Amino acid sequence: MSTPAERMVAEQLRPHGVTDERVLQAMASVPREEFLAPRMRRHAYEDRALAIECGQTISQPLVVALMVQAAAPQADELALEVGTGSGYAAAVLSRLCRRVITIEREPALAEHASETLRRLGFDNVEVAVGDGSEGWPPSAPYHVILVAAAASGVPQALTDQLADGGRMVIPVSVGPDEPQDLRLYVRRAGEVTYRSLFPVLFVPLRTG
Ligand code: SAH
Repeated sequence: MSTPAERMVAEQLRPHGVTDERVLQAMASVPREEFLAPRMRRHAYEDRALAIECGQTISQPLVVALMVQAAAPQADELALEVGTGSGYAAAVLSRLCRRVITIEREPALAEHASETLRRLGFDNVEVAVGDGSEGWPPSAPYHVILVAAAASGVPQALTDQLADGGRMVIPVSVGPDEPQDLRLYVRRAGEVTYRSLFPVLFVPLRTG
């Protein structure tokens, strides 16, 4: 018997470009329904973003998987996520690296996500409240940075907090009526370059 998350991996992720076995295993091991309100749980394994509290969304599973795959977290690495939301993506990421710090600007969401993560035993995730466009300096630099909200440019603080050899995946708004451009930034020997991955639609990164 397969679980709903295992079926999601087989039907929605494998056929659509998620090939990293570690990522697929992580996606199969995190119960997405636990990060949703009871009335939304029957939709948990539909491959789309869903409403959570505070007018925010839990990201589409395929997008979470492709973002994590692009960032290629390693078991001994430290990761930063901006935009905790439900805590789902942080949970997936935490299966693939040593420690995750995730920042959320809405205290109610941060508190709820933190509770969910603790209840499910994701002990290597720390939830912080604040403006993630400033990054989280106390624990920098990070090998992996995932940003779950779109800005019109990449916040300088985030590139500054990327370790040498580090990878950052971030949606960038390119125009008012256009989808955002999901980008992979890499820092190598002090130089930061990027390539575009695919178009996406995230909630806006609200700074200040
Ligand atoms: N990763 C989440 C998806 C969250 S949606 C999940 O798996 O459920 C994006 C989140 O980013 C929202 O919760 C929003 O409140 C938060 N956000 C927006 N701007 C932010 C900022 N400047 N700093 C931290 N969080 C921010």
